Amino acid sequence: MAPGPWPRTNSQTAAVGANAWGGPGLMRPTHLPTAFDRPRTWSELIAFAKRAGESFIGRSHQWVAGETLDEALRAAKQANDRGMEAIVNHLGERLLDRAQVEATTREYLRLLDAMQSSGIRGTVSLKPTQFGLLIDRAYALSQIFPVLDVARAQDRVLWLDMETADTTDDTIWICERLLERHAKVGICLQANLKRTLKDVERLAQVGVRIRLVKGAYKEPSDIAYESRTDIDRAYLSNLEILFARARDFAVASHDPRMIQRALELAKERPARFDFNLLQGVRDPLHTELVSKGHRVAEYISYGPKWLPYFGRRWRDRPRNMLTMARAFVSG
Ligand code: FAD
Repeated sequence: MAPGPWPRTNSQTAAVGANAWGGPGLMRPTHLPTAFDRPRTWSELIAFAKRAGESFIGRSHQWVAGETLDEALRAAKQANDRGMEAIVNHLGERLLDRAQVEATTREYLRLLDAMQSSGIRGTVSLKPTQFGLLIDRAYALSQIFPVLDVARAQDRVLWLDMETADTTDDTIWICERLLERHAKVGICLQANLKRTLKDVERLAQVGVRIRLVKGAYKEPSDIAYESRTDIDRAYLSNLEILFARARDFAVASHDPRMIQRALELAKERPARFDFNLLQGVRDPLHTELVSKGHRVAEYISYGPKWLPYFGRRWRDRPRNMLTMARAFVSG
């Protein structure tokens, strides 16, 4: 196990828990200087900054299972034990080096192999740019095929994450090629993109599984909604289409309004769908949905390249950063 200051497992992060610090998983860093031991010399200042950085990183690692495959498996097993499927993602994106891409392919093959031998319920979700999409889409497809073939042999869904809008067309293209080879292929679609209503309608019709999210990337206003209100409205419209047309899909949001609307729609038009939630985000909600008999999958990320991922999680909830900063300054 790689050394690190962060809580690494779900149970550890659950132990950190919700608290007066204003959010799940946030806890006052005990090893930081308080108002009484603020740094007074350069070396104290450097040590202070280093500990502060570690602390911020440590808090952020509630969103990541750890750096190794074993840690990911442990988190996946815990998700299974708590009544959820696991959707495992090996962190990494925007690769431009073929050797690194091919190492990614091998990692996913190892991961699926390990999930199979450990009896993990769930599957994997991968980022097309981690498979070389920015080098060439046909090359990326050729790298994903071996992973798809193993997922098919194990009867698992293969999910594609969605990244920045300049990759949407190519990701959909890859998804459709994968679907020609395996019936269980899923793609993430982002409600903040104006094009998504049409993509949902079309892809639901051809039998692709859709994971509906709000969208984690900031995009230009000519192609994307920017305000929370507009994004939420778009999410709800897409949800209606999914319940009307899709066969099997995932409602991937921690927003109580989105979840509530999905539950209402499910009563009107029974459909096969899962809730998909991120490890470390609103953990009690995961358990609550399971206890009410809903199908839930937990999305679990692992690997050493966690920085862009946790940047997106901070962006999802800037209040996390503010709360940390406020408490840090006030000592
Ligand atoms: P929000 O309105 O952002 O959040 C609702 C509530 O959830 C907040 O009020 C807060 O209480 C809580 N919350 C949300 N985020 C945090 C956090 N980081 N820490 C603490 N509390 C928080 N995006 C993509 O662009 N591509 C993908 O492939 C992709 N895959 C995803 C897979 C899954 C399973 C999930 C759940 C999300 C995925 N996302 C993806 C991220 C998504 O686009 C959003 O950025 C993220 O889910 C936050 O949006 P929300 O719907 O939860 O609603």
